[in-house]
Amino acid sequence: MSRLAVVCGGSRGIGRAVSRLLAERGCRLVVVSRNEDATQATVASLHGAEHVAFSCDVSKEQEVQKTFNTIQKTCGNISYLVNAAGINRDALLLRSKPEDMVSQLHTNLLGTMLTCRAALRSMLHTKGAAIVNIGSVVGLKGNAGQCVYSASKAGLEGFTRSLAKEVASRQIRVNLLVPGFIHTDMTTGLEEQDKLRSIPLGRFGEPEEVAHAVLFLLESPYITGQVLVVDGGLQLAM
Ligand code: NDP
Repeated sequence: MSRLAVVCGGSRGIGRAVSRLLAERGCRLVVVSRNEDATQATVASLHGAEHVAFSCDVSKEQEVQKTFNTIQKTCGNISYLVNAAGINRDALLLRSKPEDMVSQLHTNLLGTMLTCRAALRSMLHTKGAAIVNIGSVVGLKGNAGQCVYSASKAGLEGFTRSLAKEVASRQIRVNLLVPGFIHTDMTTGLEEQDKLRSIPLGRFGEPEEVAHAVLFLLESPYITGQVLVVDGGLQLAM
């Protein structure tokens, strides 16, 4: 039986590229995001036929638990979990609205904790199980106008390293992938030319380039608790 991979935030951007690559490599995919139509459309575009879509808000504990219970019942045990669901509500802290602060923390940080917790029991039953969480270079370096988003992503580093220690004895690996600027909906509207000067490779990355690094982490049996930066050298210059 092929490996079952769950990609949260798989309907668009980095998560969709990861879903496509894993499907090409023979995994059965469960694609999760809030928008049902977009999630179904991604599943319909995947190589192979055994994939399924679930509409779920990862920031809501009961939805997450219900979704993962159904995944286990209908699809089997999970081998890979990729947490790519994320939002940003960029603003200087003084202008940040409390509801935007909460939604970023709940989606980016709490959401990842909830999906990991919900998936782990099922992952105990598979060999070579692995989780990749998606952070951000601003979680490592900070960025004015992104205090809350940066905090949510910095939190993922401590969470990932701690969880890696907790589950290593069960041979489950947990790593953090940290992208720089990647062409997706999240970066649409940014003044790209202004940013290019700070990227040593001189360009934004593509979702497919991040997906290859996610695949590398998922398939590397002796790597756990690590942070892999995929940013064209951006953090060298920050
Ligand atoms: P996109 O905005 O293109 O896609 C975000 C995905 O997350 C969508 O599938 C979206 O679907 C889903 N999502 C958002 N909120 C929730 C939620 N509450 N529950 C379930 N799914 C949700 O973003 P990217 O692909 O660019 O980003 C992917 C990850 O990479 C994010 O964590 C982001 O913070 C991180 N990142 C991105 C960078 C970039 O330059 N693009 C740089 C650094 C980090 P839906 O709206 O239907 O729920």
